[in-house]
Formats: sequence, structure tokens, C-alpha cells
Amino acid sequence: MSKRLKIAIQKSGRLSKDSLELLRDLGVKLQIQEQNLIAFASNFAIDILRLRDDDIPGLIFDGLVDIGIVGENVLQEHALEKKANGESAEYELLKKLDFGFCRLALALPLSVKYENIKDFENKRIATSYPYILKDFMQKKGISYKTCVLKGSVELAPRANLADGICDLVSSGATLEANSLKEVESIFSSSACLIKKAGKLSNENEFLLNKFLLRIDGIMQARESKYIMLHSPKNKIDKIISLLPGVETPTVLPLAHNDDKVVLHMVSKENLFWETMEKLKDEGASSILVLPIEKMLR
Ligand code: ATP
Ligand code: ZN
Repeated sequence: MSKRLKIAIQKSGRLSKDSLELLRDLGVKLQIQEQNLIAFASNFAIDILRLRDDDIPGLIFDGLVDIGIVGENVLQEHALEKKANGESAEYELLKKLDFGFCRLALALPLSVKYENIKDFENKRIATSYPYILKDFMQKKGISYKTCVLKGSVELAPRANLADGICDLVSSGATLEANSLKEVESIFSSSACLIKKAGKLSNENEFLLNKFLLRIDGIMQARESKYIMLHSPKNKIDKIISLLPGVETPTVLPLAHNDDKVVLHMVSKENLFWETMEKLKDEGASSILVLPIEKMLR
């Protein structure tokens, strides 16, 4: 059993920056050499492996790395592929993370009329995700043909390789640029933290648990806001009732003002302009909403 905790992240791509940022927020000090596959942390016994995202699920299933950050889409595709080949794909989903949001969607050329999923019967669909597509279509009872492409899927209809596509979408801009329209979303995805099956060494379990607690703190902090405002003394309860997810606020006196007090509190949700305007209508003033970096309960 390896002494150092091995963590796999995407080397360069859509998940790289957020994955590294998460590690930094966890307090991991890393020296990244762009060309190197492996990076060592100076303050924890961990090694960071920087890989193609497609290689991460397999390494986790085979127990060669301890934990990894990968899109659920890539994870699910590789797990379904393994199972289709009669092999097992064991892993533990530790946490869904708050980045890498996208969906796998079916899309058709703008000129094609679409009513429902039955319109895909006997059609050819280009995709890089044949197993997720197959799983979805089987559940819907639709037979179809595939054209498996590792890239440039969105060009397939125009190149007469396929009638439609099944591809990752986040904003929809790529579809639009290729005169395609999304007609069905078949799989929602975000980045997730996964672990190989089975127990790690005691030291690594300890470290992992520490990181998981810190991740909770980071994710809670990202959603929360620190709010400071001046409230009329007789409106404190009303003001607090307007704020979403607020725990007991701190009430402080305001210098040279007996009618108002200062309230400091943490709100577990973002504060919208509408709420701030309502607070003002109730007599609140000097309303400040600040981001929170870390939180430990
Ligand atoms: P690699 O070189 O590591 O194989 P890649 O080209 O396969 O990279 P990226 O395009 O960097 O992968 O996307 C990585 C992951 O980011 C996707 O698998 C998905 O989970 C997520 N993602 C988020 N938004 C999008 C999007 N609009 N298009 C594609 N992937 C997205
Ligand atoms: Zn990839």
C-alpha cells in the first residue's frame, strides 16, 4: 500500500483550473511544473497526478490511484463501458463538486422538426459517449445507429455523417454556431471527487477525512455570505425574517445612535437585490454583503 495519497486531476482542460484551486483552498502547497505528470505537495504526504480526464476513471477502478476529480459524464461513460465488457467498475463517489457543470444532450439541425424522442428511431447519432447514449435509448426503447467520434461531434450532421448528435453542452453556444438545437437533455454532470474501492492506509484515510471536512467548509462558504447592516431596534425580528438561511445574528450597539443597532450574520444563501431593497424598506441601512472564504463549524 502506497504511503502517499495519490490524487488524479485533469492536466489541461476545463476542470484543471478549478481542481487546482480546490487543492489550494484545501491548504495543499503545490509546485506545478507545466510539463510534469506528477506534482508533489510540500506540506502533505500527497502526490498529484496530472492526466487526460479519460484516464482517471480506469485508474480509480483498477485501484492505481486513491482519489480523483473527474466529470460525472466521463466517469459514467467508463463505468458503463466496463460493465458492457463484463468487467466490474468499482469506486466510491465521495462528493459532487461545484464546478464543471454541463449536460449531455441530443441535438438536431435547426431545419429538422422535432416532436419527441421517437423521432430518433432509426436515425444515426454522432457522439463521444456511446455508452451513456445507449443506456438512455435502451430505457426509452428507441433503436438508433451511432457514429462514434472523439472530437468535432458537432460537425457530423453537416458532414452527412449523422442525422443528429449527442454531445456535452453548457451554454449552448457551440450548438448555435453549428446551426443545431438541443432537443433532449439525457445526463446532467458536474465534477466529482471519487475514491477507489476498499480501504486506504490509516494515514491516508485520516488525511482524506480531513480534506472532506475542509471541502464541506469551502463549499458552504462559497454559498454563504457575511451580512452587516444597521437595523431599527424595533425591527430586528422583521429584518432577520427577511434574510434567507440566517442563524442567530450578533447584535451590537451603534455609537451615538439609540434607535438603531448593528447586526452581523451569516446567510447560507446568496442575497438578491430584491431582498436588499425589502430590508431597506423596513428601515435597514448601511447594508454590506461580503463573500466568505472559509468556514469551520
Ligand atoms: P482531456 O485532454 O483531459 O481529455 P477533454 O478535451 O476530454 O480533455 P475538456 O473539454 O477539458 O475535456 O472537458 C473536461 C470536462 O469538463 C468534461 O468531461 C465535462 O465534465 C466538463 N465540461 C463542462 N462544461 C463543458 C462543456 N461546455 N463542454 C465540454 N465539457 C464540459
Ligand atoms: Zn478527455
